[in-house]
Amino acid sequence: MMAEGGGPESGNAADSDSEPVAAQTPTPSTESQKQTIGLLLKRTLRKGDEWYLIDSRWFKQWKKYVGFDSWDMYNVGERSLYPGPIDNSGLFSDQETQALKEHLIDELDYVLVPTEAWNKLLSWYSCLDGQRPIVRKVVEHGMFVKHCKVEVYLLELNLCENDNMDNVVTRHFSKADTIDTIEKEMRTLFNIPSEKETRLWNKYMSNTYEQLNKPDSTVQDAGLFQGQVLVIELKNEDGTWPRQASYSKSSTTPSRNFTTSPKLSTNSSVSISSTVTNGDSNCSPGYTLNNSTSSSNSRFGGYNSYSSSYNYRESQSQPGLCGLSNLGNTCFMNSALQCLSNASPLTEYFLNDQYEAEINRENPLGMRGEIAEAYADLVKQMWLSRSSYVAPRTFKTQVGRFAPQFSGYQQQDSQELLAFLLDGLHEDLNRVKKKPYLALRDAEGRPDEIVAKEAWTNHRLRNDSIIVDIFHGLFKSTLVCPECSKVSVTFDPFCYLTLPLPMKKDRTMEVFLVRSDPQSRPTQYRVVVPKMGSVTDLCSALSKLCGIPPENMVVADVYNHRFHKIYRRDDGLNQIMEKDDIFVYEVQEEDSEKMNLPVYFRERHSKHAGSSTSTMLFGQPLLITVPRQNLIADVLYDKILERIGRYVKQSQSPNSESRASASATFASCSQAPECSTSSTLSAGLGGCGSPLSDGASCSASSSNGSNHSGTCNETNGLYDGEEEAMDHQVSPEPENGQSEEEEETSDLDNGSKEDTAKLFTFSIVNSYGTANISPLPCDGNVLKLNPHSTVAIDWDAESKKLCYDEQEAEAYEKHESMLQPQKKKATVALRECIELFTTMETLGEHDPWYCPTCKKHQQATKKFDLWSLPRILVVHLKRFSYNRCWRDKLDTVVDFPIRDLNMSEFVCDPKADPYVYDLIAVSNHYGGMGGGHYTAYGKNKVDGKWYYFDDSSVSSASEDQIVTKAAYVLFYQRRDQESPSKPQPSASLGGAPEPADDHMDTN
Ligand SMILES: [Zn+2]
Repeated sequence: MMAEGGGPESGNAADSDSEPVAAQTPTPSTESQKQTIGLLLKRTLRKGDEWYLIDSRWFKQWKKYVGFDSWDMYNVGERSLYPGPIDNSGLFSDQETQALKEHLIDELDYVLVPTEAWNKLLSWYSCLDGQRPIVRKVVEHGMFVKHCKVEVYLLELNLCENDNMDNVVTRHFSKADTIDTIEKEMRTLFNIPSEKETRLWNKYMSNTYEQLNKPDSTVQDAGLFQGQVLVIELKNEDGTWPRQASYSKSSTTPSRNFTTSPKLSTNSSVSISSTVTNGDSNCSPGYTLNNSTSSSNSRFGGYNSYSSSYNYRESQSQPGLCGLSNLGNTCFMNSALQCLSNASPLTEYFLNDQYEAEINRENPLGMRGEIAEAYADLVKQMWLSRSSYVAPRTFKTQVGRFAPQFSGYQQQDSQELLAFLLDGLHEDLNRVKKKPYLALRDAEGRPDEIVAKEAWTNHRLRNDSIIVDIFHGLFKSTLVCPECSKVSVTFDPFCYLTLPLPMKKDRTMEVFLVRSDPQSRPTQYRVVVPKMGSVTDLCSALSKLCGIPPENMVVADVYNHRFHKIYRRDDGLNQIMEKDDIFVYEVQEEDSEKMNLPVYFRERHSKHAGSSTSTMLFGQPLLITVPRQNLIADVLYDKILERIGRYVKQSQSPNSESRASASATFASCSQAPECSTSSTLSAGLGGCGSPLSDGASCSASSSNGSNHSGTCNETNGLYDGEEEAMDHQVSPEPENGQSEEEEETSDLDNGSKEDTAKLFTFSIVNSYGTANISPLPCDGNVLKLNPHSTVAIDWDAESKKLCYDEQEAEAYEKHESMLQPQKKKATVALRECIELFTTMETLGEHDPWYCPTCKKHQQATKKFDLWSLPRILVVHLKRFSYNRCWRDKLDTVVDFPIRDLNMSEFVCDPKADPYVYDLIAVSNHYGGMGGGHYTAYGKNKVDGKWYYFDDSSVSSASEDQIVTKAAYVLFYQRRDQESPSKPQPSASLGGAPEPADDHMDTN
């Protein structure tokens, strides 16, 4: 690597075919790089553009190097910060296929740069050998308002031929690709002659197919989802198709044709705009559903016998067990809809067409009734059509039309959609045509009962709908001024409860302790630290277990065999993620005399015989305490050898064998004069002197070099070449041609040279370990280090193989703290969350309360209490927390009861009847922030059993599956509220908070 002259990036740069770009583009100054890239990053996304993913670890390093952020400009241009070639390996789940890891998060794991920025970075830094650029298209996204988004994850489609469905080939497509593109790809894939006519089918269940007959529609528009099976069908010689389609009778409905297996399909003259049917022969004819019209005339039904070939027979035979297909990242919507669909009072209301009389088209706060109608249509499809699943296209479109407030909506959140829907449905179905103006009155010392009743009455005078009937409750908030003790009590309606999760104050961390004793293996410890603590807290906790004083510890994040970050004592532990590999090194305290030098291991690879080499990091890096001044190269070599003595052994038969292998190495690896294995460890010393010291001083310096002064001189030719190459690397503009020449010279030298004996060589590298930034400058044999120096020790493959015991190097012990059974991930009870919700708190200084008595803002105490609860209680668990430096999803398991949730004790109305609830639905969120997947559990109102809804699939579930860390929104229904929703007496204005027949009996 050193002599290849590849500019600072070296690494893979020696390949002449990958070089020209770097060779021809002078690398601009850091300031100019910062400006150029900064501007490019401000580009807006345009549909069809291509953007590139870069591992944010590399990008952060680059930002530091060029001083991209004003707060991080301390070491701009510092060689040790040089980022080296772009390295995306951290984003791959598999280094071979370079498939992306799942659930990567924008900004956190990767950054996106436009093509031009990528090309520039690539020309300045190149990218790691063998890594392909991760390029992605900009597609339109968004449930509500279309916005552009880079499609980081491509859609995986399974392709096969109609007459050979066992041969399934997986390919990835962009959501912006068209059906035509896929068809072409399939024709190529299956060698279909160009004169053959083909058709494309979506295969859903074992025997359900949907024809994709709009070649120009995109993957996204066609609603294809992850793992979808597509079947290509060839026309028969006689002009017929093997698979009979049932064409749509209605020309207005979109072109979606469905068919079952050929033998059944002749009977299935069914056309539906967006549902799949089994098309059984026994079905009622002419079942049509036109989404665009009101479905007042439609009592669905008729499908009551099923093809035995159906997999989803059960789900078909049971109303409500209807999946919702994913229309492109719409699992959050599907999850919310399934929860709502299982709220039986609401579903009954729609199925019984009660909504028709109540649609409010004039309400300026509503959606002209269109949300309500779209929802009604969907509910009817889900409960009456008996399709195994439907595609909620029309509903999605309607919601999108009316929700401009959701534009710029990043997190697609089932809870936010629920909130929008409940509000939208409420206003669309508000029985109040003209909202009266009502002044708000404070309690002013009046009894709660009176004030609460007044608040509820006022609320109902303006808001009176099925949603209010079912979902609205009333809570009391009490504010107390700390100065004048003024008490302000108000009662406010709510539609769902957002409950905080108790935050654990501690966290456990698993770290590796690397003792300075070379013979002891790294040991893994588990320590308990304050969640909001600092690195000092981590050291103290570890110190108690291992006995090493905290001041003798350095904490580092090791990633890809290098120090990704060496933490300072006051760094917050919140910077350390669970996935980070944290190593704690026992060192001596740094002072004016001593410093702790990072040491990386690298292995040289010869890429092809007779040409250049590249290096690859391996093993775990070390921190070695060395003197700041007058560090003798030989001493460092000794120190390192001693330090790695546990796993670096001299070869068994040093002389004969190693010589043989050494010469063999020479033959294949021209670039490694040092690659001969050492005969003895001490013999290695002198040899290493040459790369350590610069060529000129080397010959003079080997005072203690025993038999090596001679060899050292001989190698000068080589090292001169190396050095020159490295000098070029130091300068921002690599001059390749020259270095390559040098390289050739060195190669020649190598060939003729006597093998020298040593184990490894040194160079000073950037903190990434990818670029040599200089040979170790030395004065005589004395090294010149700066506080940021990182040293790499380079091994050739042969000596590594002989001397480096990989197994031992990677061996570690487990401290007993690791062996103790780990406390189960904290489970909190739902009641703890409710208690937290109702705990008195003091307002923060940024959200004070204006005290009307003091006439100024005060940090009042605030307390929430529940006054009355709705028939269906929606509980939103606040799993996502955001702040400037802490983006997190809490994975706490909240233990919530499936039945008998008694909320009475939390209700402060002394006259309230018991509130006992049973769970009816759960919206689940899996995965991390900014992505992940949503599903739902729902209890079917007809058979009282639990089901799991995962987009288009519906399966049986048991109660013990329901409580998981994924549970995100809970739906509870009050006991004895299950009588179908007759028009509520409370619908009249000023009705009581609760219907009179609320609690005839509990238990
Ligand atoms: Zn006051």
